[in-house]
Amino acid sequence: MLLWPAVTAALREHPRPVVLAALRLVLAVARKGLLRGEVVPLDEDTLSHRFRSALDAAISPSLRKVVNGAGIVIHTNLGRAPLSRAVAPFLDDVAYGYSTLEYDLATGERGDRLEHVAGLLCRLTGAEAALVVNNNAAALLLALTTLCTGREGIVSRGELVEIGGAFRIPDIMGQSGAILREVGSTNRTHLRDYEGAISPATGLLLKVHPSNFAMVGFTAEVAPADLASLGKKYALPTMVDAGSGCLMDLTRFGISGEPTVGEFIRWGVDLVTFSGDKLLGGPQAGIIVGGEEFLRPMRNHPLLRALRLDKLTLAALEGTLRLYLDQRQALAEIPVLRMLSVSAAELRSRGRKLLRRVRKSLPVGISLELTDGLSSPGGGSYPLLALPTILLTISRDGMSPQEIQMRFRNAPVPVIGRISSGRFSLDLRTVAEEEFSYLVSALRTLD
Ligand SMILES: *Cc1c(COP(=O)(O)O)cnc(C)c1O
Repeated sequence: MLLWPAVTAALREHPRPVVLAALRLVLAVARKGLLRGEVVPLDEDTLSHRFRSALDAAISPSLRKVVNGAGIVIHTNLGRAPLSRAVAPFLDDVAYGYSTLEYDLATGERGDRLEHVAGLLCRLTGAEAALVVNNNAAALLLALTTLCTGREGIVSRGELVEIGGAFRIPDIMGQSGAILREVGSTNRTHLRDYEGAISPATGLLLKVHPSNFAMVGFTAEVAPADLASLGKKYALPTMVDAGSGCLMDLTRFGISGEPTVGEFIRWGVDLVTFSGDKLLGGPQAGIIVGGEEFLRPMRNHPLLRALRLDKLTLAALEGTLRLYLDQRQALAEIPVLRMLSVSAAELRSRGRKLLRRVRKSLPVGISLELTDGLSSPGGGSYPLLALPTILLTISRDGMSPQEIQMRFRNAPVPVIGRISSGRFSLDLRTVAEEEFSYLVSALRTLD
């Protein structure tokens, strides 16, 4: 086989062990088939073809670009928030050379890596101090460990949430050494429930955003401002895990019900934790803002060193936060905000543009149609919100929607769509115009 033209050509371009591994894989698959008693073609043409597919799979990166047509803006499995292009110069400056990561240019002495974003976060949220770690789970772990180890953290029974990826509030409290003190009932918790649970063992009053679920009907929860007042009365810190971490009011786009981080601070909450790569639209990070007296012990805690951020993340976060200094710029430049605020009318004209573009080169038998649909924000924010959107529905004579979905997934740049009402469709809210060419390539695979 090493002498076959397909293999000798591959050997000129790729390392020998990689080529050998692909050949062995092809043979192993053939051998398995033979042992099962199947008819296995062993001619050079067939095996060369299989070899090339195996090699292509082996040399293409595992982590790669996909087009999100699934209709979920902050899609955790697809990498959550796409970064703004405006962040590229920040990454470029820091990635390929040396930087001021921990160097103070004014004094020529060692600096603090967290300084690069702390001031911005304080300005954008009105908080006194800010700290950044790897993700929101780490932010909670650090805060709970510092403030509440060996003491009781009081949480409503309605907020003991599990979000995806095995993150559960009771577990993270256990890990931090905090003692979970549940109050209230599943659907209703009142201020008197928190107050009745306060004792000399109490370390923290904690409120958690229910993330990806919502309770409707006969429900009651305590407003953050009231919990903050209760904390002040008993000299106990209050913390809100805001989850998604919205820095801007999006009510005018029909997106309401989530307080901004700044609002929590104004209501007197001592500490707020949130993610960098959800509604904020930046890189994966966990942000803690609040009173300096609570953040100082976190800054000095050995855990902080284990949870610290990498310079690339810091560069992307600083770049993203700077966009928020001008709200119009943030809306225009941050993909998550742009995708959430785009209207169905704009999406329809995007769809028409796409149809004009692809109709010329469309294989026969394929029909495309623009239909109304609904998209969701995702990322544990606004679980009940459905945004009116435009779907590109794709069908092909004699091909099932499952087959179309599979071919799109295996396109040169994979395109992820969904099947609803028995048809395969792509939500145009999360497909940018600059990605149209990938849709064209995916459509060709239906030929
Ligand atoms: C997403 C989320 C987290 C976890 O944040 P990561 O940044 O993914 O670690 C924690 N709490 C809530 C309420 C969330 O929505």
